[in-house]
Amino acid sequence: MPIQIFQPSYRVDECLSEIRDCLEKGWTGLGFKTIAFEDAWKDYTGLPYAHFLNSATAGLHLAVALLKRHEGWDDGDEIISTPLTFVSTNHVILHTGLKPVFADVDEYMCLDPIDVERKITTKTRAIMFVGIGGNTGQLQAVSDLCRERGLKLILDAAHLSGTKLHTRDPGHFADAAIYSFQAVKNLPTADSGMVCFQDPELDAAVRRMSWLGISQDTYQRSGVKGSYKWMYDVDEVGFKYHGNSIMAAIGLVQLKYLDEDNAYRRQIGGWYDTGFSGNKAIQPIPIAAGCDTSQHFYQVAVDDRDKVILGLYDQGIFPGVHYRDNTDYPMYSQAKGSCPAAHAMSERILSLPVHLNLTRDDIGVVVDALIELVGS
Ligand SMILES: *Cc1c(COP(=O)(O)O)cnc(C)c1O
Repeated sequence: MPIQIFQPSYRVDECLSEIRDCLEKGWTGLGFKTIAFEDAWKDYTGLPYAHFLNSATAGLHLAVALLKRHEGWDDGDEIISTPLTFVSTNHVILHTGLKPVFADVDEYMCLDPIDVERKITTKTRAIMFVGIGGNTGQLQAVSDLCRERGLKLILDAAHLSGTKLHTRDPGHFADAAIYSFQAVKNLPTADSGMVCFQDPELDAAVRRMSWLGISQDTYQRSGVKGSYKWMYDVDEVGFKYHGNSIMAAIGLVQLKYLDEDNAYRRQIGGWYDTGFSGNKAIQPIPIAAGCDTSQHFYQVAVDDRDKVILGLYDQGIFPGVHYRDNTDYPMYSQAKGSCPAAHAMSERILSLPVHLNLTRDDIGVVVDALIELVGS
């Protein structure tokens, strides 16, 4: 059996029973389970607002676009971001007419607050922080820096479902936090995401903008009267980004087991830690103090990474790389060379398999194979 980096698992009967509710009621779209999931997410995270979307990318786009409008940022204003992320994080900055400025990463593979501070200019408006693999890195320091310098903080929490920082959801440290429930994330649906603003005005705005700019207030008012449902207002040019009840039905079940599932992921992390302890050729990426990680994946750094990966493939083990330095891609190449640590690490890191179908023996197989390939 090949050992894959990710493999989603679902409590199938429970998911089907939630989905059955939707089908029997004839309500698979916006509303119904999407509202139930938003409420459950707010309960779970303790965040004041949550809006369910069809992806985290949609949430990142709306977070940047709405903050830009609300704060009156100009085209060409800057957001400091990381080059070590899924391109989704940075594409939304370009989509919004803003300029991504890259700061380097620290030992956690997350933004280094010292380099972030160096990269602040008179045009900097916000910082985009990514919690790599469930790690919160130095989020607290970056959050403090934002407060000091009057910058907004957007948290790409695609890997952070269930992560806690000092026992709280990391979303509490940001102006907007965006979670992904894409198929291979640690809270998998098939495709969906959640955007959580701290500001009620922005939450209201994101609800309009995710449904083509249609004002749901008007819709709901006329709905209550039972007529004039067609008389809704369209206040602005929005997007078709909202989530649906089928995805939310799966999300509701997954959320019930999130803590239990993440605990098993951390157990896998512990087995890797033990397996690599004392090995000089394999450097596990540390988890920051105060972070109770979701352990979305387990990252190590090794020399000759590409060869090592091919060696693992030969043994039916399929790790990943999170991520290639984004300044290697043409649309970000103007920043090439601006983040030497991120660049060097992007050639050394690999992410080892973490998912719920792996046993302690499987982890032993991966540990032995890696040690065999890189030595000690
Ligand atoms: C997966 C991912 C996203 C995008 O999530 P989708 O729900 O697929 O749009 C954004 N950022 C990071 C870091 C991711 O891993």
